[in-house]
Amino acid sequence: MTLTNARELSAFVSRNSNLSETVLGEIMDAVPVAIYMTDAHGRLTYFNPAAAKLSGRSPEIGTDQWCVTWKIFLSDGTPLRDDQCPMAVALTGGEAPAGMECMAERPDGTRFWFTPYPAVLRDAEGRVVGGINVLIDITERKNAHREVSEQFRAIVETTPQCVKVVAPDGTLLFMNPPGLEMLGASCPAAVIGQSVYNVIAPEDQERFRVFNQMICGGKRGSLQFEIVGLKGARRHMETHAAPLQHADGTTVHLAVAHDITERKRAEGSSFLLSAVVDSSDDAIISKDLDGVISSWNKSAERLFGYTGEEAIGQTVASLLIPEDRQEEEPDILARLRRGERVDHFETVRRRKNGSLIDISLTISPVKDLEGAIIGASKIARDITESKRVRAKLMESEARFRQLADSMPQMVWTARPDGSVDYFNERWYEFTGFGRETRGDTNWERILHPEDLQRTRDSWGAAVSSGQPYNVEYRFRDRRENRWRWFIGRALPVRDGTGKVVKWFGTSTDIDEQKRVEDQLRRANQDLEQFAFSASHDLQEPLRSIKIYSELLMKRHAHSLDGEALKFMSFLRNGATRMETLVRDLLTYTQATRFDEPPKVTDANEALKTALANLSGAIGESGAQVTTGPLPSLPVNGTHLQQLFQNLIGNALKYRSPKRPPAVHVEAERQSENWVFSVADNGIGIDPEYKENIFGLFKRLHTSGEYSGTGIGLAICRRIVDRYHGRIWVESEPGRGSIFRFTLPV
Ligand code: ADP
Repeated sequence: MTLTNARELSAFVSRNSNLSETVLGEIMDAVPVAIYMTDAHGRLTYFNPAAAKLSGRSPEIGTDQWCVTWKIFLSDGTPLRDDQCPMAVALTGGEAPAGMECMAERPDGTRFWFTPYPAVLRDAEGRVVGGINVLIDITERKNAHREVSEQFRAIVETTPQCVKVVAPDGTLLFMNPPGLEMLGASCPAAVIGQSVYNVIAPEDQERFRVFNQMICGGKRGSLQFEIVGLKGARRHMETHAAPLQHADGTTVHLAVAHDITERKRAEGSSFLLSAVVDSSDDAIISKDLDGVISSWNKSAERLFGYTGEEAIGQTVASLLIPEDRQEEEPDILARLRRGERVDHFETVRRRKNGSLIDISLTISPVKDLEGAIIGASKIARDITESKRVRAKLMESEARFRQLADSMPQMVWTARPDGSVDYFNERWYEFTGFGRETRGDTNWERILHPEDLQRTRDSWGAAVSSGQPYNVEYRFRDRRENRWRWFIGRALPVRDGTGKVVKWFGTSTDIDEQKRVEDQLRRANQDLEQFAFSASHDLQEPLRSIKIYSELLMKRHAHSLDGEALKFMSFLRNGATRMETLVRDLLTYTQATRFDEPPKVTDANEALKTALANLSGAIGESGAQVTTGPLPSLPVNGTHLQQLFQNLIGNALKYRSPKRPPAVHVEAERQSENWVFSVADNGIGIDPEYKENIFGLFKRLHTSGEYSGTGIGLAICRRIVDRYHGRIWVESEPGRGSIFRFTLPV
């Protein structure tokens, strides 16, 4: 059956509920739920007081249509025309949505939320006779809900943690500003709507995928993972997630995540710290302000002999400090309480076995989070060995100083960087400097200005290369008020790894030596000059003597008697000898007058020239000259040729009458030198004269026995000297001689 109006409804209800129509009418009027009824055209036929109260108005019966309310809006705020209101939809045959939430505005402007429950009333034939609508006031619930979502929004916006919503496929649907900041996103669009995997560390992506599926599958959970922000920064995150019913019916992943990078780092560093403490060679102990030990590492056990269990809970004073040092601990504790640090305090402590040990203590106060001092950490280092080394070092240093002070030279030492850190007594005596002016550059103050830069440069070069230093310079001699020449030498002292740890240097007075050298050089020059001009000037009168004695012989030989002829021949021989002598002397003075740098000379070539010059003597004596392989070397070709010519010439001249001469020339390399040898089978030389023969005019024979001037070997020595070489002879009288000389490679 279908009811047409409230009266019928009341009648129907009263019939079936044993309630009278009047009573039902009274009930409808009294119920606190808004109810109104309309005819088939929607015109209002009834509304109860609750409806009037809710809508804030008294509609006109028979005139107002569809609604009891004044203005209606949908839940999203769009206004709804009266003829589209749920009641109108129901009456005009439409399907009014059940349980929809609407908002209405009262004439006074206030608003309320309600859910309409419209129903169509039909008569027995099924014709629409009217409608009834019940409006349930949901304002309170709505407000409560809005309050909750407001609160939620406030929480999400104010929490410093990252709040995010992730779709099952990984799309980031929402993220609050702190989350965006953690990702380094300048605006929400940079990440929202994108895949969350873009910012998850590659190694954690798979774990996150599984986690996301689990949450979107309706479970709750937590996960630690790393993100790589848009600017590349990595962070450790810890997320707590729950499933969230999304508006479109899907379940998404709501998570609150916080940055645990610092915690991880702290965990890492505290792990590291404990590893360091455990592996340290130093004993590391902590104690409270009463001196009670609270931690004890492995090295403390090794150093003092007590295990951690034995030591922790004991006081440092009772366990480690010897009787005679007990006063140290209160002092240390007092300093710690004042927040002071105790650095490298050297003292003695007692081991478990009673033995004493030299240690160096560094103690620092430990503070709690509020900054209050609650104890101390203490590092104890065994310095028995370093004390011993130091004592030894001091002893050797003292010995060194004693030695250095007794030396006639000035002695100094410098640090690896070249700064002088010690001068011996001699330095202060010489310079008159006070001991406080020791070191660094004060040696420059007495250096000759012309030698300053050169000396500085050499010293700088030695320090940077680690090569020995060797330089001549002048120091001011304050006593004699003049400059004196010194030779400065320094050698680097290296440690086991080859690193320079010190420089050891000396300054030796070479003033006298320099002076003598100078004099000698000058005297030599004078002598050379004299010998050169003397021999040169002698040639002229000699030539006259020779010419006139020959003329005399040629023109007047017939008028001279036997004795006069003999005298004439003496005169001629004498003049010839004199001529040879003068020529040889000239050769001698000029022997080393080559100033240009020597070119490389092939010794074979030099020998060939010498032999060619000697071909007459070789042919006449029937000598055999053999040679070994000869090198090329940086000496003047004429010098080498002169050497060969003199030595081979002598070998032929001083040949044994018993056998034809045999001469052998060869060269052998010995490190930085070539050692040449010219060996003969001649008369040999008495060992007594081995040195003598290299002197000028030194001869072992008269010119009657062997012709000669005694200059040949002197020339040889002069040439070899010029190349800083050596010349000597090995000989056995009667058997032969070997002349050797060295020249540079
Ligand atoms: P000189 O040959 O003109 O006398 P040198 O200076 O060449 O002058 O030689 C000095 C001296 O050394 C010679 O007088 C000779 O007594 C001796 N002497 C040089 N070479 C030989 C040699 N090969 N064998 C023996 N004696 C030598």
